[in-house]
Amino acid sequence: MEQLLRTLLLSLSRSRTARRWAQRHGLRWGARRFVAGTTVDEALLVVRDLQQQGLRVILDPLGEYAQTAEEAAASAAECLRALAALRAAGLAADLSVKLTQLGLDLDRTLCLAHLRDVLAAARAAGVHVTLDMEDSSHCQAILDVFDEVRKVFDNVGTVLQAYLYRSLADAQRLGREAVHLRVVKGAYKEPPAVAYPDKRAVDANYLRLLAELLPGPGFTAIATHDERMIAAAQRLIADHQVAYDRFEFQMLYGIRSQLQVRLAAAGYPVRVYVPYGRDWYGYLMRRLAERPANVAFVLRGMWR
Ligand SMILES: Cc1cc2nc3c(=O)[nH]c(=O)nc-3n(C[C@H](O)[C@H](O)[C@H](O)COP(=O)(O)OP(=O)(O)OC[C@H]3O[C@@H](n4cnc5c(N)ncnc54)[C@H](O)[C@@H]3O)c2cc1C
Repeated sequence: MEQLLRTLLLSLSRSRTARRWAQRHGLRWGARRFVAGTTVDEALLVVRDLQQQGLRVILDPLGEYAQTAEEAAASAAECLRALAALRAAGLAADLSVKLTQLGLDLDRTLCLAHLRDVLAAARAAGVHVTLDMEDSSHCQAILDVFDEVRKVFDNVGTVLQAYLYRSLADAQRLGREAVHLRVVKGAYKEPPAVAYPDKRAVDANYLRLLAELLPGPGFTAIATHDERMIAAAQRLIADHQVAYDRFEFQMLYGIRSQLQVRLAAAGYPVRVYVPYGRDWYGYLMRRLAERPANVAFVLRGMWR
């Protein structure tokens, strides 16, 4: 039943009609629990609050699957606006972007041009940018863009998803170099031809990816709320004496907040992923799919 609901929510997350409706109507359905606001100014209030709790932040100007060049340009402009707003507010935060929001599905050259603008502005501001990993049909294209831009920019990283069979080979290739990689379990609906259908296999692969990357020369962002994954990472960090500037824990805004503070208080670097913007629908649906119990929370939000 839970698996069925998860599949349904992930299918709904791709609905263009619902997405357009959501863009027009501001945060609804309890989305505020996971999304910091619709504007960068609202997001900055959350950034400040998290930093006061000893947490670092990675800001995500929400957006995905741009359908027109105008949408892609607007997303790039929002990234630049976020960088300027952080600077004006005297706040430090990294940035996460999705290449499909910068036009990857429309025109790779256009997407690269937007990305280069964002990376250049971020580099000038001392900000690191992570290219979020999207559904598996975009995985190779995102890794190719990553390989291309990292020749020129040292402030860029990307993400490996433990549910994909291919990720261990990607980790073995990229892990030899001093690159910045976030390890996640994976949030999209994927067929068994490309991804482990079984959660235990995903968890086992997550641990394999950490074991591959943490002792290596790069930077590893351990992005999970799973205490078993976190404990395993802590053991690897201790066993391999991984320097504290070569890894960090990452979690999503609104999820396991006490665990975030507890880890930071124990001296670990912890970064919270803070999404904001009008394009919150797909993000919310993926958070619901991860934990269908959240649906009750949303239904209460709708009722109100
Ligand atoms: C910083 C960050 C960046 C990410 N970037 C990407 C990305 O680029 N591409 C991508 O595909 N995925 C991304 N993800 C999502 C990721 O793939 C998982 O879907 C998500 O993190 C849930 O997996 P988990 O590791 O927390 O483990 P799970 O086994 O799913 O969850 C472990 C525990 O965490 C809590 N939890 C997890 N999710 C929720 C939720 N939605 N609501 C309430 N509690 C919850 C529950 O207590 C659960 O028992 C990112 C996740 C993080 C933390």
